[in-house]
Amino acid sequence: MSNRENFPGYFRQSILIRGLEYHRAGNVRNLKQITDSVYTAHVEGTEETGYTARIDLERPHLSSCDCPFASKDMMCKHMAAVFFEAFPEEADKFEKYLSGPEE
Ligand SMILES: [Zn+2]
Repeated sequence: MSNRENFPGYFRQSILIRGLEYHRAGNVRNLKQITDSVYTAHVEGTEETGYTARIDLERPHLSSCDCPFASKDMMCKHMAAVFFEAFPEEADKFEKYLSGPEE
């Protein structure tokens, strides 16, 4: 498994779902790839200003975000949103997984 495929496993499923919603709603702005495995973006939420999240696929625990949830060392929905924005095929895969097994 690549780092990319493992990355969602670091999130609680409810958080991934919120991140997917942000991605689908177009709340992720200014996506930038910093290195092979590091991406940043600005994620608009309920707050007016939104949050800046940074994900590190190689070292998930070094992912960061300036929201209160992430300050408790948790993987937040903004990080999930950045992940799905960077890899839309992973968003499709996760959505398929949520909708249950295929016939
Ligand atoms: Zn956050």
